[in-house]
Amino acid sequence: MDKIGLYIHWPYCARICPYCDFNIYKNKADTETPLVQAILLDMHYWREMSGPRNLVSIHFGGGTPSLLSAANLQKTIETAQELWSPSSDLEIGLEANPKDITEKALAAWCDAGIERLSVGVQSFDDSALQFLGRDHDGQTAKRALELATNIIPRVSADLIYGFTNQTPNMLQNDLQIVLDSGVSHISTYQLTIEQKTAFGQAEKRGINKAVGSDTSADLFEQVIATLTASGFNQYEVSNFAKKNAQSRHNLLYWQGGDYAGIGPGAHGRLTVDGKRRATIAALKPKDYIASVNSKGHGMAEQETLSPKSWAEEYVLMGMRILGGISLARYGQISGNTLPAETIRQYEKSGLLKKTEDQLSATPKGRMVLDTLCHELLSY
Ligand code: SF4
Repeated sequence: MDKIGLYIHWPYCARICPYCDFNIYKNKADTETPLVQAILLDMHYWREMSGPRNLVSIHFGGGTPSLLSAANLQKTIETAQELWSPSSDLEIGLEANPKDITEKALAAWCDAGIERLSVGVQSFDDSALQFLGRDHDGQTAKRALELATNIIPRVSADLIYGFTNQTPNMLQNDLQIVLDSGVSHISTYQLTIEQKTAFGQAEKRGINKAVGSDTSADLFEQVIATLTASGFNQYEVSNFAKKNAQSRHNLLYWQGGDYAGIGPGAHGRLTVDGKRRATIAALKPKDYIASVNSKGHGMAEQETLSPKSWAEEYVLMGMRILGGISLARYGQISGNTLPAETIRQYEKSGLLKKTEDQLSATPKGRMVLDTLCHELLSY
């Protein structure tokens, strides 16, 4: 049976961070029940589209899905397991704000079935957290990781680097604290400035919020050196894991697998009869709910990808991971081959590695991945 993952987007946040350009809305009272009902109905629609599948992951992302009640998390998890056949190592993950992490909440999430927690730490430095407009302090983040690693089997921490007042020492301090916390997975995000955010507006007024690309590259090298020296494997450009602690849900994206995209603004991918469909759900919660209630599903856009677009996506996602892509799979999707001469040249310059069927970027190649992919796909 083909695999499927389930992504559920919970779009509400207690406070909107000034750098965030996700599909998010300020949390209000009475938003939970109608949206959860729509999500459950939409899952039934996706089950009709996908047919029977082996369910390998359920991921609650956002926004801040740790605002959801444990009862609704449990209901969603149970429904997913009734609709699709759960794999024996089904991953069930929740993204959580440090402020929402208490012993009581962790116990309730565990009972609901959550076995992986991804904690939005960003930094442990109070001045950095203030700069980033976060609604928690460093002590809360430390305590959240301490509690979470005691109760949840697999815990990941998110860190941000590359904001203007961050020094290499501050970054090193954040990395050391996260390493000492005992998490088995670390996701690192370079601060990027998106125009429509408050940081984007500030930059327009000449106030820099992010460091330049050279400094950012230096900070990223520091991240890689520190985490790999501590036994973390950089299994994807920005993601580091101890043995067996990789995010199976995210691997599904990077390996070109299928996933149902449920909830406002969620993206999905579904392959049926050799055709790959890309979907986007209605962005605003009220439009998503109205769509589910009138049409039975929340999708606002869906298109069948051309073999070329599908193959490009396969390369752009797959080259991010350590194992890279299968050349045979690329051929199946595109009916074409990647340019042998370009591959040879980049192998020679130490940016690409090719075995019989696998093509991957070397650590040096990963630093210039966009250029590499662009070159591979320009033929
Ligand atoms: S909590 Fe996360 S999703 Fe919500 S605004 Fe901040 S960065 Fe964005």
